[in-house]
Amino acid sequence: MGKIKVGFGFDVHQLKENHPFVLGGVKLEHHAGAYGHSDADVLLHAICDALLGAANLRDIGFHFSNKDDRWKGISSLVLLQHVVALIKEKGFVIGNIDAMVCLEAPKINPHIPAMKTYIAEAAAISEEDISIKATTNEQMGFIGREEGVVAYAVCLIEKEYGT
Ligand SMILES: [Zn+2]
Repeated sequence: MGKIKVGFGFDVHQLKENHPFVLGGVKLEHHAGAYGHSDADVLLHAICDALLGAANLRDIGFHFSNKDDRWKGISSLVLLQHVVALIKEKGFVIGNIDAMVCLEAPKINPHIPAMKTYIAEAAAISEEDISIKATTNEQMGFIGREEGVVAYAVCLIEKEYGT
């Protein structure tokens, strides 16, 4: 028997014209992209927050302040590696990750296999333990107007008792 914990993460970024759009470590071809301090990878940020939450390690802003130049423009895959190291220090391994991206465009389904490959490598887990889903917001609200992109993630982490 071991200990199992669940975590939840959410993130949102503005979309700006002629800005790179990095999602799940994949650079998307699009007229606009997510804007933020790091590479603004909304999917990876939601996953990082889910993992940190599960291990009760506060949130991504606590570990990677947007006032710290070390994280300016950095690939969020590097942030994910840091987060996985933090939960490992507490004796946990990742069970699985399930994530949802909400945006109107572009279509991300063709890119999901590549996202899984990048995330599996950064988190040192199997692609089988990573689920990524996508939906539009039915043209409603800020997501529908393509002003922003949102992601949610849940994860399960576990450790053996006595470790
Ligand atoms: Zn973010």
